[in-house]
Amino acid sequence: MRIGAHVDRQDPLAAAAERKAEVVQFFLSDPQAWVDPEDRTDAEELKASDIDVFIHAPYRINVATMNNRIRIPSRKLLFKYATGATTVGAKGLIVHGGHVDKPEDIDKGIDNWRKTFAYAEEQGGFATPVLIENTAGGDNACARRFDALSRLWDAIGEYNPGFCLDTCHAHAGGEDLLGIVDRVKAITGRIDLIHANDSRDAFDSRRDRHDNIGKGQIDPDLIVAVIRAAGAPVVVETPNGAEGQGDDIAFLRDRVG
Ligand SMILES: [Zn+2]
Repeated sequence: MRIGAHVDRQDPLAAAAERKAEVVQFFLSDPQAWVDPEDRTDAEELKASDIDVFIHAPYRINVATMNNRIRIPSRKLLFKYATGATTVGAKGLIVHGGHVDKPEDIDKGIDNWRKTFAYAEEQGGFATPVLIENTAGGDNACARRFDALSRLWDAIGEYNPGFCLDTCHAHAGGEDLLGIVDRVKAITGRIDLIHANDSRDAFDSRRDRHDNIGKGQIDPDLIVAVIRAAGAPVVVETPNGAEGQGDDIAFLRDRVG
């Protein structure tokens, strides 16, 4: 099982070495802004390295929303990010499932997801596999609760989307981690990446605050069991820098075996 971390985009390969990571995930531009992926001087180095690369889409992206002024730029930026991700040889582009504002119907958000894939398809499809990630919060989120996730996959399954399972988001979003891999795979048929994070908050708290493995409210054995069952690469998005993440990676590597 390949295990790594979400790192600063400054120097992902140095960050990987520091953490003994076999996988890195990073942003291609300021994650809080509407800006295109930046060109990277280390693109060829990343491509040639034996480290698996995943790219995370900016936080602002919400392709599900009914708000045109967010949805349209989100759709465009996601497409550009998928193209940008190829320059570093990324295996996947992770994007949050998004949400509609109350009192809009989740199904409208799901239909906006379908339109996002249709838009990409018109231009030859996403250049990097898009991995939709489950989220922790929001009553009207497309990929928080699995009843909605199931309807989302009914709408976009034909486009062959990927899935990223975040253990903190599942726990805080109110989806039990026990047996979760089978429940997800029954819907999506696949798990492409695990975000292995502990949660500072309680089950179904809807709060998205990651913690180091074993320091939060999730039984570490449960996180290990999810990783084993999924058989997918793992990225920790945990705090406390190289030391905190390095310890999390070492712990998981030891326990997952
Ligand atoms: Zn995550």
